[in-house]
Amino acid sequence: TGFAALGITGPLLKTTAGAGFDNPKPIQAEAIPPLLEGRDVLAIAQTGSGKTAAFSLPILSKIIALGTKRLPKTARALILAPTRELAVQIEETIRVLSKGLHISTALVLGGVSRFSQVKKIAPGVDVLIATPGRLVDLVREGDVNLSQTQWLVLDEADRMLDMGFIHDVKRLAKATHKDRQTALFSATMPDEIATLAQGIMKEPVRVEV
Ligand code: AMP
Repeated sequence: TGFAALGITGPLLKTTAGAGFDNPKPIQAEAIPPLLEGRDVLAIAQTGSGKTAAFSLPILSKIIALGTKRLPKTARALILAPTRELAVQIEETIRVLSKGLHISTALVLGGVSRFSQVKKIAPGVDVLIATPGRLVDLVREGDVNLSQTQWLVLDEADRMLDMGFIHDVKRLAKATHKDRQTALFSATMPDEIATLAQGIMKEPVRVEV
């Protein structure tokens, strides 16, 4: 398929086809190759563009390549989203794209009991999807450790800014591994987002669709 030409291999080609994705969308064609190369990516992309698979497939590809390596309370990849609804959708997409591949996911959301969230993360997870406020609490309390987090995605960064999460996002980025790979997706690029990107990314590849 078109995904193979982008560098997606083996089991992920099957799950991608299983999800009904025949051909990559423009954001996927632009963002997947640099992400697979390990580059940071700064993308302007709208809701509905296919951005979830654009950042998820490269992360899943790298996690699969490295094999199981979960440490207690850690997350290998962290995806931050502005709302509970978006976080839930992202987890659902990742579950579909990693079906049968033994990838563990967890959600950390405000407004619901933290007990089950903490319990799920206790043995360590591959991909953590979170809204920023609650995750800051869990990190502060020592229930989540981001020091081993090698992949960081900020989804709908402009909405996280509008919702007052920028300070939390910066703190969380700082808590992840210093050699992490970072992707930032935003529908618009106000100055505050450009400045944030400069602070947390290394020579990002810019993508706009
Ligand atoms: P997103 O912008 O990630 O929320 O994706 C928007 C919608 O496009 C979702 O319903 C996806 O399932 C769908 N989608 C994403 N990538 C593809 C693709 N390559 N082919 C067909 N549908 C896709």
